[in-house]
Amino acid sequence: MKRPTAVTELIEELKRLPGVGQKTAERLSFFLMRSKVDQATKLANAIHNIKDKIILCSVCHGITETDPCGICSNSSRDQKQICVVEEPHDVYVMENMGYYKGVYHVLMGVISPLDGIGPDDLNIERLIHRASRSETQEIILALSATVDGQTTAHYIGEKLTRQPVYISRLAHGMPVGGELDYLDDGTLAQALKARAKLEI
Ligand code: ZN
Repeated sequence: MKRPTAVTELIEELKRLPGVGQKTAERLSFFLMRSKVDQATKLANAIHNIKDKIILCSVCHGITETDPCGICSNSSRDQKQICVVEEPHDVYVMENMGYYKGVYHVLMGVISPLDGIGPDDLNIERLIHRASRSETQEIILALSATVDGQTTAHYIGEKLTRQPVYISRLAHGMPVGGELDYLDDGTLAQALKARAKLEI
């Protein structure tokens, strides 16, 4: 028997989410069908709101409801340090650690030749511009220990060689292939404290 179109549509949309395969999508769809109208509506509204109310900060590209975001506009944050991360959620990983007091720059991905992502697809030009301001003293590259993450780190390092800015990267100890959110707060804080100059 064929499924009603609305169910098929929901399953197909859920399958687009990272980590959700056919089985999980079906399970979630049937869960939502059985749930109270109120619960399903809350979920639908929450999804609608993140598209409606959440924007990217024009300075750092972090996600925010105000522009500039709460971190960029906070005068007690150290504007001399810019921590470069791959995705908006990495900002939360760093913030949860509670040790970092500088500001951020979100690249919106990494250079990945296999996926056809080049430097121009990322938020790199704006970083070069921010790095050129006199108040910027250090760029901390908090990118994943993957081939793509390291390629991106080197590309940025080369782009910034003429700028009088210190470029550091998180200390080794990051698991190879590891991304920021795989690290517990203690390990991440340690990798940040022991950061070293990026060698080009
Ligand atoms: Zn911001």
